[in-house]
Amino acid sequence: VLTVILDLDDTLVDFATARRDGLRDHLSAPAPWLTGDGFTEVLGTWRRIEQVHVDQYLRGRTGFREQRRARIRDFCRAYHLAPVSSDRAADDWFAGFEASCEARLAPFPEVAHALAALAQRGVPLGVLSNNRHEVQERKLRRTGLRDRFATLLCVDDLGGAAKPDPRTFRAACAALRGEPATAVYVGDDLDTDARGAVRAGLIGVWLDRAGRPRPGDVPTVSSLTGLVGWLEDAGLLMPARQLER
Ligand SMILES: [Mg+2]
Repeated sequence: VLTVILDLDDTLVDFATARRDGLRDHLSAPAPWLTGDGFTEVLGTWRRIEQVHVDQYLRGRTGFREQRRARIRDFCRAYHLAPVSSDRAADDWFAGFEASCEARLAPFPEVAHALAALAQRGVPLGVLSNNRHEVQERKLRRTGLRDRFATLLCVDDLGGAAKPDPRTFRAACAALRGEPATAVYVGDDLDTDARGAVRAGLIGVWLDRAGRPRPGDVPTVSSLTGLVGWLEDAGLLMPARQLER
């Protein structure tokens, strides 16, 4: 029986756009000079700092709140902003940024339709994410997608194990009572998502909305509508026409 498990950020919801606009909005009062022509570079700096500290967190070297505070401290240092004076001030800074992002968060346009097409054919659906459960639960509810999924597994549900650890993909299959061999995992990160899933024994699919060169080793789709089409073509999903007969 086919099961489909999906990544959340930049797979189901357009987090990159929400982060970009949320950061600009959050900086507009304390540091308006950062939100003009040079903002692309500022965003690049924010993302580099994010990558370093999130990576430390996913390797279990720092806590969830601690990595957020470290990101803000590094960012303020990089742009000579007034340093955050306390953990509390850093937490408030992050909460403001997060609220700005979440207010802008939206699913990609084809997502609701594609998930409905899978649900209509009885495919159990799950989400597996390297973010925190509480954060991801809120994103799914805010974007109206939560009820589509039988399971949501996040890094803190898995004892700190993060993709591409094979245990995370297998845990998601088990939660849906599916077998890895007939489970499809789709996400926007080629290595962490698609290749990680393949190494765990699942069918890994790369979602590349940007049209980059196709890798030779994993199937690639450009949208979730494309995923449904690929599943049909691969004989994993009954085409809708047949269903109607
Ligand atoms: Mg992602």
